[in-house]
Amino acid sequence: MPNAFESPAMSLVLTTPAPTLVPVADGRSFPVHRIYCVGRNYVEHAVEMGHTGREPPFFFLKPADTVLPVPQGQTGEMDYPSLTQELHHEIELVVAIGRGGRDVRSADAAGHIWGYAVGLDMTRRDLQADMKKQGRPWCIGKAFEQSAPIGPIHPIASTGQLLKGEIGLSVNDKPRQKGDLSQLIWSVNEIIEHLSAAWLLQPGDLIYTGTPAGVGAVQRGDVMEGRIAGLGSLRVAVR
Ligand code: MN
Repeated sequence: MPNAFESPAMSLVLTTPAPTLVPVADGRSFPVHRIYCVGRNYVEHAVEMGHTGREPPFFFLKPADTVLPVPQGQTGEMDYPSLTQELHHEIELVVAIGRGGRDVRSADAAGHIWGYAVGLDMTRRDLQADMKKQGRPWCIGKAFEQSAPIGPIHPIASTGQLLKGEIGLSVNDKPRQKGDLSQLIWSVNEIIEHLSAAWLLQPGDLIYTGTPAGVGAVQRGDVMEGRIAGLGSLRVAVR
């Protein structure tokens, strides 16, 4: 899709923040277009959230600039967000889309993946719960600044398709979340099929694929460390 603002002759009336970039493991950068998130995609987490059975996949979005990129080997710093008393961690496999498309079939989905990263879907759980109770959108609980920390993106060309492997998170070196990518209720390929039926998938889209059981609260001063087999770790301190 052509960018309406690419002409140098066009004079913009103001300056907006620069596009969000996520480091790639080899030192290059991945520009972020949209952030899609999948809700309740591991059985035990669905149960801890009060649900059972295989419901159709459902999605919410975070704006691209909610990403908190954390370069290789560094510890990201996240400010404790406003309005909440219950900031929760959700460790997630993030899929980075390299090729867009509409109505992508699950069998063809792997060809649209550029790479993978370790991510955190940080959640103001108290606000999300309140919105759920009232049948209102989750935005205020999910889509706030720095709510999407992410480590370096590893190209699928070097990792291969990630279909299984341990995913976990510790807080101050104490284990909190643990699961395996093979336990995803909806696989990455199925997620891409469902997503691209509803939205036009674009290069630069990120998909947070859901979190395993064990979500919980963090406080100022805590250090979270998420790990996914084959992708290394993501460390984020809350300040
Ligand atoms: Mn999540």
